[in-house]
Amino acid sequence: MARKQRTFSDKISKGTGPRGEKCPVCGEVIQTVKIIRPYKAENGSWRYIEEMVNVCKCNSKEMLADKPIT
Ligand SMILES: [Zn+2]
Repeated sequence: MARKQRTFSDKISKGTGPRGEKCPVCGEVIQTVKIIRPYKAENGSWRYIEEMVNVCKCNSKEMLADKPIT
């Protein structure tokens, strides 16, 4: 079923591309990207959370920064 898997990843890459929506603040096309954030669990071990975020010029620095969730 290699063909099915390829179709599936095609869908993913399309989903993470530009959707044509523009930010009313900066005028940049908003992109949906998947980011992985580390956070510290109660038992002291590090875990990771996957998050889909809308990114434009306004928040790209903030959203793509590698900072832990508190
Ligand atoms: Zn913006």
